[in-house]
Amino acid sequence: MSNYCKCCYQELGENDLNCPRCGLTDLKIIGNDPEQEKALEPFIRSHRMGFLRKYELGVTCYYWKDQDGTIALDSKRTLTFGNAAELLEGTRWLDQEFARMPDDQEITVDLTVTENGGAGRDLQVRVTPPTEPQLQKLGLQLDKQLQLRLLVKNDKTTSTSTSVSLL
Ligand SMILES: [Zn+2]
Repeated sequence: MSNYCKCCYQELGENDLNCPRCGLTDLKIIGNDPEQEKALEPFIRSHRMGFLRKYELGVTCYYWKDQDGTIALDSKRTLTFGNAAELLEGTRWLDQEFARMPDDQEITVDLTVTENGGAGRDLQVRVTPPTEPQLQKLGLQLDKQLQLRLLVKNDKTTSTSTSVSLL
């Protein structure tokens, strides 16, 4: 039977004493006592918080400008949601508000994960934003399984994107 890290869900080899990805000691539990497994939870949680701190999460935004009557790409910037530990099991919203795209289509959004300030890695999610003609806010959610989802909301509606694994 495969054995997975209880912190980051990496598959562990038979001889791994520590997870090769997050460093968690392979916590072997004797027997199958759910109470015992529960007792480990605070320890796993605090290890996970430390591990996730090195991942900075952002979204790539495109800025457009009016150029002689046509809309042209002006610049591309990454807006940050903070580090993954701050997001864990919750949602962070950007302060900025965004204009709604005129068509009610599913869009692809680039999320960026930066590890220890290194080169960013792009992850793509798809979302169909709310259709009301209002400004929208962007949020990012990280669940316990380390899956990311982008949220797009206005006063009435919140749309949730497809999920993508942080790691
Ligand atoms: Zn791990």
